[in-house]
Amino acid sequence: MADLKVGVLALQGDFEAHARTLRGLGAEPREVRKPEDMEGLDALVIPGGESTTIGKAIDSAGLESALRAHHQAGRPILGTCAGMIICDAEHLGFIDATAKRNAFGRQLQSFETELEVEGVGDEPLRAVFIRAPWVERWGSEVEVLASCDGHPVAIREASVLACAFHPELTDDPRFHAIFMAMTTAARERAGEGAAR
Ligand code: GLN
Repeated sequence: MADLKVGVLALQGDFEAHARTLRGLGAEPREVRKPEDMEGLDALVIPGGESTTIGKAIDSAGLESALRAHHQAGRPILGTCAGMIICDAEHLGFIDATAKRNAFGRQLQSFETELEVEGVGDEPLRAVFIRAPWVERWGSEVEVLASCDGHPVAIREASVLACAFHPELTDDPRFHAIFMAMTTAARERAGEGAAR
């Protein structure tokens, strides 16, 4: 589907790498800094960075209600690393799961590993973890797409996809491709609704 507009929350963190990956998949990325930037988006990425800083920046930009409206309309959201924390039950509550910050501990602050991820095909996905969270509690509606050391690190519930690693930092776009497929499906559903 042509011209899917995908916002990337650009308050802090590595939003530019997400925009590049999305562009590579044929989407039209847009940086989001204020509520007006959310208008007309088909989907939104909340990138990694520092969750406390991003949370405060959402407040001071007055973005929370636009984010909630986007979620309520069933438009997809991808939260990566700090973005996963922002989406969790203790923050914006977009996904029925709780992320544990810096869960891999001091010894394992940053590492790369090969992950088996549901929905990307048989080839393992190279995943970059940087002071990453893992999921320590998740509800029955949450699908676990990948785990690392026995802890979920990629999850999905309805229109929300979240991962603890940084899929934008490798040149393998398969994780973002899952998100783009969700976005295409959501836009088709919205189109059918409008036609009725
Ligand atoms: N450790 C960060 C946090 O707790 C997340 C790190 C990241 O996004 N790479 O917010």
